[in-house]
Amino acid sequence: MQTRTKRISGSLGSPPARSGPGTCDVCRGPALVGLKRCWCCSETLRNLAARAAADGRSTWSAPPVVMPLAVFRAGDSLHRVLRGYKDATAVEARRYFTSKLSEHLGSVIEAHLDCVEASLGHSAQSLAVVPSASRLFRSGPAAVPIRSLEPVVDQVDPLSKLVRVQVILDRAAPPIGHLRHSPSAFEVPPVEKAVASGIRRVLLVEDTWVSGATALSAAAALTYAGFEVMAVVVLGRLVDVNASAISRKWWDESVDHVNPPNLRQCSLPKCIAVGVSV
Ligand SMILES: [Zn+2]
Ligand SMILES: [Zn+2]
Repeated sequence: MQTRTKRISGSLGSPPARSGPGTCDVCRGPALVGLKRCWCCSETLRNLAARAAADGRSTWSAPPVVMPLAVFRAGDSLHRVLRGYKDATAVEARRYFTSKLSEHLGSVIEAHLDCVEASLGHSAQSLAVVPSASRLFRSGPAAVPIRSLEPVVDQVDPLSKLVRVQVILDRAAPPIGHLRHSPSAFEVPPVEKAVASGIRRVLLVEDTWVSGATALSAAAALTYAGFEVMAVVVLGRLVDVNASAISRKWWDESVDHVNPPNLRQCSLPKCIAVGVSV
């Protein structure tokens, strides 16, 4: 097996906490001690399952595996990059932040993509990105083009080679956002289902996880369309350290403040990266 002792530059944020007391088993954010899951993940998953049952459809038997590459606070460097690649006014600035984000994604993926296969028993066959929802609805469909994560993923070698499955916003559906989840917010075009015949396992990539409502809604839409969402790869999971004393304590005690994300074990159950400091 290849050892990965080489330091790969470019990763941002802090490594996500591994599963354990006080850490949500879905998003790896803070959870109340004694509970395995944070309130946002519990609510979103419960409501999506209820909605699926009401629609006569099945979703996942277990929640999708979420793989946050890093955690960050408002104002941290990863936060500035995640905002800048979509919101910076100048095209040159957006291009700069896009390349920073590709470096971040590439450096962690290089260290940990094999962990997906080791943890889940299969390799990914295809890849989908979560379209940016909030900007579309804030600015109006015609006013501002949707800035996409696609160019970020295109610059990351192992991911760019996967078959791309398109997930699009259903513009007729009510807007989604923080804690406003809906499996009908996204569509997987029928042509993609045909192209992907025989290709079922998909990696879903999201830029920012706040409550998880958007990513889990997109995962539900892919599941409805017949795909198996292997893992939701999240470039950064925002932690609001001002939300509660518990959140601040969790940030201080559960997050590695020394090592960059690519030098730590990832959040997957069977991290096989070698040479990382833990
Ligand atoms: Zn959670
Ligand atoms: Zn790993």
